[in-house]
Amino acid sequence: MMLPDFRVRQRDYLLEITRALNQELDLDKLLDRILVISIELLAGQGGLIALRDKSGAWRIAVSHDIQPAFLKLIEPWLAQIPYNEDPAKFEVPEISRLFEQLTYTASLGFLTGVGLPLIDRQHVIGLIYIFRNYTGGFSANDRIVLSTFADQAAVAVRNAQLYTQLSQEKQRADALLDSAGDGILILGPDHKIERANPAFGRMIGLKPSRIQNQTHDDIIRWSGKPQGMTLETAEAGGWPLTRLAQLYVEGDLQRGEQPPLPVGITYAPLISPEGTLLNIIATVRDITRFRQAEELKSTFISIISHELKTPIALIKGYVGTLRREDASWDSEIVKDSLKIIEEESDHLAGLIEDMLDASRLQAGGFTLRRSDVSLVDVAHHVAERFQTQTSRHQIVVDMPDNLPVIFGDETRLRQVLSNLVSNAIKYATGGEIRISAQERPDQIIVSVSDQGPGIAIADIPHVFDRFYRSPDMSRHTKGTGLGLYLARSIIEAHGGSIWVEPNIKEGAKISFSLPRPQD
Ligand code: ATP
Ligand code: MG
Repeated sequence: MMLPDFRVRQRDYLLEITRALNQELDLDKLLDRILVISIELLAGQGGLIALRDKSGAWRIAVSHDIQPAFLKLIEPWLAQIPYNEDPAKFEVPEISRLFEQLTYTASLGFLTGVGLPLIDRQHVIGLIYIFRNYTGGFSANDRIVLSTFADQAAVAVRNAQLYTQLSQEKQRADALLDSAGDGILILGPDHKIERANPAFGRMIGLKPSRIQNQTHDDIIRWSGKPQGMTLETAEAGGWPLTRLAQLYVEGDLQRGEQPPLPVGITYAPLISPEGTLLNIIATVRDITRFRQAEELKSTFISIISHELKTPIALIKGYVGTLRREDASWDSEIVKDSLKIIEEESDHLAGLIEDMLDASRLQAGGFTLRRSDVSLVDVAHHVAERFQTQTSRHQIVVDMPDNLPVIFGDETRLRQVLSNLVSNAIKYATGGEIRISAQERPDQIIVSVSDQGPGIAIADIPHVFDRFYRSPDMSRHTKGTGLGLYLARSIIEAHGGSIWVEPNIKEGAKISFSLPRPQD
C-alpha cells in the first residue's frame, strides 16, 4: 500500500529525528534540530522549545522566527505553569490552552499556536511550541505529529542532560586534577598509570604524556629505603582489605638528573560495590619544607645542648670548687675563678640574646631605633673592646675620618661589626684584622678582613643561613651559626646588603653596604 505523501514525509522526519537523537549529545544543537524539523513538518512560521530545570525554573532553550518582544512575554508566563504530579491531568491541557490564548492575544488574531509538553517519566521537563498563520490552523493530525515528536524529544533531552551532567562532572574532576598542588596518580589494579596530573609531572620532571601508560613501579622508585609500607609489600600482605584502608609511605623519590625529592605518598583504593579493586589513587606530597623544619629543629637542639652546656658546666665547676668548705682559697684564685664565671655568664647571656633575636626575626623582624651614627666611632669602639681579648691579632681601623654619618640603629650596627670581628678572631689564629670603609655615591661599604684560612667556596652561599657552620671549622671551634645570619638581617633591615668578597688571596673578607643619607 502506498502511503499518502504526508505520511511519507512524517515517517522520513521521524527517522531523521531518531538518527539525530542517537548522534547528537550536545543538548542545544539537538533541540535546534528537533525544532527545525517540527516547524518544517507542520509548515509552521516559527517556534520554540523551553525546558524546565530541576528547581522548576523555565528557560527558553531554542527559538526560531519569534520576535524578541514576544519571547519576553513568554518567559514570565512560563513561570506560572502550575506543577502537577500527574501531567496528563492538568498541565498538558493547561499548557495547550494557555499557549493558544497567548498567541492569539499577542498576534491580534493573526497567528495560531500549538504547544505540547515534553514528558519524561511522568514529569513535564519542557515544552515544544509551534505557531503558524491563523488561516492554516492546526488539525488534530498536526497535534498527533507534534506529540510523537515531543515524546522523542523528551527522551533525547533526558539523554543529553545526563550526558551534559556527566561531562560537567568530568570537567570538574579534570579541573581538580589539573589545579591540585599535590601530585596525583590514578592507577589501574595492575599498577598501570591511567592518569597523572601536571603537579606530579612537575615534581618528577617529566611531561604527563611520558608518565601515562608506564607502570607505578617504573615511575615511583625510591632512593634508599622508604619509611612505612610500600604499595608492593602492602599488596603482598592482602591490601586493601577495606574501602578505607589507606596506605602512607614516605621517602626520597628518584628523578633522573635532579636530586631525589622527599615525598609522602598516600594510596587510597577505589573498590566497586561488588568488592573488586577498580583503581588506586596515589596522592604524592612534596615534604621538602617539612624535612627542612625537622632538620632545623634537630640542629637547634644539638646547638643548645652543645653550646649552652659548656659554659654552664664551667660555671658550675668553678662555683663548686669555691664553695668547698675544706679548702680556703687565696684571693688570687678566687678572683680568677670569679672572672671565668663572669665571662661564661656573659657568654651564656650573649647566646641566649642571639637565639631570641633569631626567633624574633622568624616571627616578623625587629624594629630599628635609628639616630645619626658615626661608623668610624662604632668601628673604634668594637676594635678596642675586642683588642683586650686577644694578643695574637692586631685590630686595625682603616677609615677616612670624614666618612659621612648614616641614619641607623647604633646598637645593632655595633652588633654586626662585633659578629664580624669575633669571627675573624675565632677563625684566624693570628695576624691583622682590618676594618675598612669606602664611600660610594649612594652608599657606604664597610669591610672586615683577616689573615686566617678564609671561607671555602662551597660555604660562601650558606654562611649567612641560620645555624650554618662550615663542616671543617665546626670541629675545632665553638659557635651557633647565628652570627652572620643576624648580621645579614640587621643590614637588610637598614636597606643594605652583606656579602663574602670573592677571589681574596688570603684570609676572609666580608663587606656590607649601607645607604648614604641623601641631602
Ligand atoms: P656564632 O657567631 O653564632 O657564634 P659561628 O661563628 O659559627 O657562630 P657565623 O658567625 O654565622 O657563625 O659564621 C658562619 C660560618 O661562616 C662559620 O661557622 C665559619 O665556618 C664561617 N666563617 C665566618 N667568618 C669566617 C672567617 N672570618 N673566616 C673563616 N670562616 C668564617
Ligand atoms: Mg660568628
